[in-house]
Amino acid sequence: MARKGRFVSGIQAVRGMGDVLPEEGARWDGFEQTARDWLEAYGYRPIRLPLLEKTELFVRSIGEVTDIVEKEMYTFTDRLSGESLTLRPEGTASCLRAAIQHNLLYAGPQRLYYAGPMFRHERPQKGRYRQFHQVGVEAMGYPGPDVDAEHVVMTARLWRLLGIGDVTLEINTLGGAAARARYRAHLVHYFERHAGELDEDSRRRLHANPLRILDSKNPAMAGLLSEAPRLLDDLDEEALKHFEEFQEILREVGVEYVINPRLVRGLDYYNHTVFEWLTPRLGAQGTVCAGGRYDGLAEQLGGKPTPACGFALGVERVLALMEACGAAAPALPADVYLLHQGEAADRFGWRVAEQLRQAGLKVILHAGGGSFKSQMKKADASLARFAVIIGDDEAQVEEVSVKPLRQAGEQFRVRPEELPPLIKHRPERA
Ligand code: ATP
Ligand code: MG
Repeated sequence: MARKGRFVSGIQAVRGMGDVLPEEGARWDGFEQTARDWLEAYGYRPIRLPLLEKTELFVRSIGEVTDIVEKEMYTFTDRLSGESLTLRPEGTASCLRAAIQHNLLYAGPQRLYYAGPMFRHERPQKGRYRQFHQVGVEAMGYPGPDVDAEHVVMTARLWRLLGIGDVTLEINTLGGAAARARYRAHLVHYFERHAGELDEDSRRRLHANPLRILDSKNPAMAGLLSEAPRLLDDLDEEALKHFEEFQEILREVGVEYVINPRLVRGLDYYNHTVFEWLTPRLGAQGTVCAGGRYDGLAEQLGGKPTPACGFALGVERVLALMEACGAAAPALPADVYLLHQGEAADRFGWRVAEQLRQAGLKVILHAGGGSFKSQMKKADASLARFAVIIGDDEAQVEEVSVKPLRQAGEQFRVRPEELPPLIKHRPERA
């Protein structure tokens, strides 16, 4: 205990950057497995991207006057090259950068996904961390609105697969460039008339990026924002058609949604469709998944014009929501805890453990010696399904004793090669 105390006052993790301890880890593994199957079921292929990128990539894609670029990025100067580098705060920019750099977009449209940690210097609180994890999906080279709808439909399926309820879908459209320009002028005009009610962030954004003001989380601004002109009123026919076709598919598949005309998303690169999945179960950090279309971004980053759409979900929030919805954590216990005592038994034990693993069983080989009694305690605590016991008796005739730990049943004795078919694990989910 004393030692433990000393450790606590020793080196701690960086604030806002959590460890995932083993119990939690099983939940993460289960989620990742489900997510991978889900992504493959829709034909998405994995892409792995670096955690560090040139700062310029994010400034140019996310936008200078956004929360992320203004105050959330971990940016530092590389000691040798003098370059400014940034720990990625999101994945879309890197994904597009990679697609452009490796000419993926010349090989036709791409459906891609990635998963991993993102870094934002925010105030840590429940559901908001400085290192957090996303699963992100990008479909590049598709003008939509079909893939826009695909992204919504597939997220709806994921919630079902994970046993998540109590989520609602909000959608909006930001229109094309012309509509945004018209809307921008209307917004500036409106906010200028109410300049006295703007907070400091919003005043700064008024001319650089007035749409961002709508994304303000400051409750004092809520009244002003609710009266602001709506982008929907500035849309042209093309944008309305895109939005309408998108909704038609959602209705066809039976995905419910509400149109939220204030939904603008915190990043600069979006146009046309934007969407968010929200839950009331997680307090202020209720957005579990968000995305939309970003047709102009490829060109902005020096690639050929490429219409594209994507979304990212926050893994910590999705896991918290699973828990809140009572979705069971997947249990991934070992099949066998192998106890052994005596010189011949120790040697035989090694061979049996390898043999059982070769046959596809998960085996924990007891380490550290001790009496059978103390080994059995460890076997029980491991939650393994069976104890396989090897003493000198068993070793001499090359057999093992088997005791069920999670179900009733007598201890029995078999040759190791007979064991796997007797205790093979049946998968819990088809
Ligand atoms: P928020 O409004 O909560 O700050 P955001 O608009 O900044 O979210 P996105 O950039 O759209 O978030 O990221 C997609 C998802 O990643 C979010 O919906 C959320 O689930 C998750 N996420 C974003 N920032 C964090 C964070 N700091 N900690 C944990 N999850 C996060
Ligand atoms: Mg944010």
